[in-house]
Amino acid sequence: MQMVLVVFGGLLVLCASALWVSLKPAGAHTAPEHELSVNEAHRTMQRHRGCSRDDCPRKEAAFRVLVESGRVRPDSGRLY
Ligand SMILES: [Zn+2]
Repeated sequence: MQMVLVVFGGLLVLCASALWVSLKPAGAHTAPEHELSVNEAHRTMQRHRGCSRDDCPRKEAAFRVLVESGRVRPDSGRLY
């Protein structure tokens, strides 16, 4: 019986930590589920100022939106 409790408790801890990882702000660096608006893209670029576009799909997506909307020229250096 005790064994079952230990296994169950272990599973619970695993689930809780998986949930925690998915809720952590680091999860916000994944690519957005929807196309960002220009406003959202601006905010995203500011929030992810410290990120490299190579490592942060969300910043990359925001940058693409700004380029496509003509706000940013890819060849004009790093604006953010
Ligand atoms: Zn980021």
